[in-house]
Amino acid sequence: MSTIQQNLQDVRSRIAAAAQRCARAPEEVVLLAVSKTKPVAAIAEAIAAGQHAFGENYVQEGVDKIQHFAQLPEGAGLEWHFIGPLQSNKSKLVAENFAWCHTLERQRIAQRLNDQRPAGMPPLNVLIQINISDEQSKSGIVLGELPALAEAVAALPNLRLRGLMAIPAPEADYQRQLAVFGQMHKAFLALKQRYQQVDTLSMGMTDDMAAAIAAGSTMVRIGTAIFGARDYSQA
Ligand SMILES: *Cc1c(COP(=O)(O)O)cnc(C)c1O
Repeated sequence: MSTIQQNLQDVRSRIAAAAQRCARAPEEVVLLAVSKTKPVAAIAEAIAAGQHAFGENYVQEGVDKIQHFAQLPEGAGLEWHFIGPLQSNKSKLVAENFAWCHTLERQRIAQRLNDQRPAGMPPLNVLIQINISDEQSKSGIVLGELPALAEAVAALPNLRLRGLMAIPAPEADYQRQLAVFGQMHKAFLALKQRYQQVDTLSMGMTDDMAAAIAAGSTMVRIGTAIFGARDYSQA
């Protein structure tokens, strides 16, 4: 078995164990494999091990990979998620190529994605990114801004509001991870109450997936634990 196959099995077991510890079904947590900076050969190995949902952070790199796999039999049924910061001049490529965008934070970009989504493609699934704890980061909106942005997004026919996403500030302590993720879960439940199509809470990465799952995450975004450390010097 290859390293990536073994890693995927380990990550799936960790997800299942974290879910079982809090009496959740493992199937409630979708595994998104974050393949940014990794070659198509690594993605092909993950596909061979049964993985079909992939997350990419850089628009052009993601589009190149999407187009590569679109021509191959093993590319059938893959689902591509854009999870990086989105500039308005790249919104068209995201609208034309991805199935999901996790990092929506501005009404103007929502409008552009809506207008640029090609006719004949299903609505783009979107998550609103919340800046839940990282004051250093400029990504995401504060919770107070959520009702207005959610309402604007929900009114756009070519977007489908599916939920929320967060990247909390790195925090080694499990209880503190849990407290931050808990705030996200509360906001998610309120949003779900108001919009029936909301079903996705994207939170949890390699170093905090167990706390995210305990707090109610429905989608973890895992890179390092599957593909190994990233080498940015090649990028
Ligand atoms: C890189 C990245 C991940 C994966 O992080 P790991 O710690 O490698 O699991 C998840 N989410 C986002 C938004 C990322 O940019």
